[in-house]
Amino acid sequence: MLPAISLRGVSKSFGAVAAVDGVDLDVTEGEFLTLLGPSGSGKTTVLRIIAGFEAPTSGQVLLGGQDVTDVPAFRRDVNTVFQDYALFPHMTVAGNVEYGLKVKGIPADERRRRTAEALEGVRLADLGGRRPSELSGGQRQRVALARALVNRPKVLLLDEPLGALDLKLREEMQVELKAIHAEAGITFVYVTHDQGEALSMSDRIAVFNRGRIEQIGPPREVYGRPATAFVAGFVGLSNLLVGDAALRTVGRAGTFAIRPEHVAVTDDGPGFDAVVTSIQYLGPDSRVHCLIDGGGTVVASGSSGRLATVTLGQRVKVSWGPESVLELGPHH
Ligand code: ADP
Ligand code: MG
Repeated sequence: MLPAISLRGVSKSFGAVAAVDGVDLDVTEGEFLTLLGPSGSGKTTVLRIIAGFEAPTSGQVLLGGQDVTDVPAFRRDVNTVFQDYALFPHMTVAGNVEYGLKVKGIPADERRRRTAEALEGVRLADLGGRRPSELSGGQRQRVALARALVNRPKVLLLDEPLGALDLKLREEMQVELKAIHAEAGITFVYVTHDQGEALSMSDRIAVFNRGRIEQIGPPREVYGRPATAFVAGFVGLSNLLVGDAALRTVGRAGTFAIRPEHVAVTDDGPGFDAVVTSIQYLGPDSRVHCLIDGGGTVVASGSSGRLATVTLGQRVKVSWGPESVLELGPHH
């Protein structure tokens, strides 16, 4: 099967800024692919290049195996949902969703049927008669989604669509979006800077750093086997051991990461002597920061055993199994 989207050697410069720097990417049909990275890492530019709103400085864009590099946005079978989804305030919800079909000259009965279907798909079947001002933030976001889905695009591009919502609503919408993706069966390319969002929703995550893909893979792989120090630090919390601290704790030179949930804190037994320098209580678990004698800080996280009861300034042992030590590639 041909990839739904292929980028081949895509770069984009704005003056002296290399926003996108030699990106190669194949997105499988029906996949939920997330572009994850910090602000300014090139995610939106990649999305805009796929949509055709931006032409790459070099490289090619293929949709379903067809080179569309020179095809204008409106001729591409792609729809985009932005964070600041602008709904028409004077139109009803149904009117907003139907609008695009009207512009395309789709007959009225088919328009009504497809609009009802799209609203059903985002669980807004009963709210078609309301105005956007009469909806919650999450409901408005779902109208924006329905407005894109009603076109039945092969590919849906979503640029931080939940960015404007508060945490609880965002988490609910993450579950909804995932269900909508599964039902619609179309290819999603989803942009976010939120690693939790990326881990919980994606089939694969492409981690962006300075216009490049630093690692691409399923969430468990990106989290469990980060390829670089950047990925280890950006996707989840990591203890980085470099230089002298690496030599003393791991026993050889290099760059290593250990997840806080793999660090044990005990009163005695094997491990490195350390002192507790700070404690963050987070509800379900705690983070205990320990300064190892001779240098190097490690954070342990969890809810059980000693972590729940240690106190500031206490002398402890910190330890981890050799299988928890992740060896990282060099920093770009
Ligand atoms: P992200 O979406 O990951 O935050 P962007 O793709 O928006 O990143 O931006 C990548 C880089 O390109 C940033 O340094 C940004 O300032 C720059 N950039 C993006 N769009 C433009 C533009 N139209 N003109 C000039 N610079 C731009
Ligand atoms: Mg962006």
